[in-house]
Amino acid sequence: MALPAFSVHQPAKVREAVELLGELREAAAVYMGGTELLLLMKLGLAGPSHLVDCKRIEELRRLEVDGDRLSIGAAVSHRQVELSPMVRDHLPALAELETRIANVRVRNIGTLCGNLCFAEPHSDPATLLIALDAEMEIASAAGLRRLPLEDFIVGPLQTALEPGELVTRVLVPLPGPRARIRSGRLAFRERPAVNLALVMSEGGIRVAVGAAGPRPVRSREAESILAERGLGGVEDAADRAAVAADPRTDLDGSVEFKAHLVRVLLRRAVEAA
Ligand SMILES: Cc1cc2nc3c(=O)[nH]c(=O)nc-3n(C[C@H](O)[C@H](O)[C@H](O)COP(=O)(O)OP(=O)(O)OC[C@H]3O[C@@H](n4cnc5c(N)ncnc54)[C@H](O)[C@@H]3O)c2cc1C
Repeated sequence: MALPAFSVHQPAKVREAVELLGELREAAAVYMGGTELLLLMKLGLAGPSHLVDCKRIEELRRLEVDGDRLSIGAAVSHRQVELSPMVRDHLPALAELETRIANVRVRNIGTLCGNLCFAEPHSDPATLLIALDAEMEIASAAGLRRLPLEDFIVGPLQTALEPGELVTRVLVPLPGPRARIRSGRLAFRERPAVNLALVMSEGGIRVAVGAAGPRPVRSREAESILAERGLGGVEDAADRAAVAADPRTDLDGSVEFKAHLVRVLLRRAVEAA
């Protein structure tokens, strides 16, 4: 299907971009890699009459350590994260996860932030980033705000972004050299059927689970069971994580099957950590 007609804007600064987005509101969409957006437009499921192409904005292209956090600009591609020596040094689990996303062509143009903003439930990075307590930085004509990633993704293809807002970067606290991080995924097709991340650090234990249900979430009950009972609590923690995942039946399997997969991933992650 042919693309509908639209205008393209290429602002050079974040300020220009948010002014444009503020004026155009629902008529505009932020355009980064376009790997999801153009597909939706071709299928007739989205029809913005203005695309605000922010890929060339210098401030959004930065990938750096900012204090005790990794700062991933909104225009940084999956491939840049995957290949960055800095990410490999400070957060190898994220670099490793990136190698499993899609294929090199998609990773070369698709951005990590675009993945989070699209909020497709069968996605990989959000689950690990929620377990790492990542935050989204969001700009608008009114200024900047920050939101935990866990609250940013509110449902399938739904985020807490308001019209006129632009995500500028994702901030990931660096868990420290002694942290144990495990991230697992089970997939029968290209995208994950279920995924789970476990972070054990001086700050405590965090468990996040995704892809099985409508959005990635933390399982705070699994976290407290593991913190109190250690390995002895694995079976109960696995049951709690399976409930938190809120699995739904789809082409990857039934609710019961996905709950089973969550339990398997939790047990594997705890044993490995
Ligand atoms: C064949 C294929 C296989 C894939 N397999 C996987 C997989 O295995 N695992 C996985 O996790 N993902 C997978 N993906 C998804 C892929 O990771 C995303 O398509 C990509 O990251 C989206 O980034 P983008 O820059 O292209 O976003 P775009 O398509 O440009 O944007 C996506 C949406 O987010 C909005 N948006 C983007 N950036 C911002 C911003 N900074 N502020 C506000 N709104 C914004 C856009 O307006 C649009 O609505 C796959 C995709 C394809 C095409």
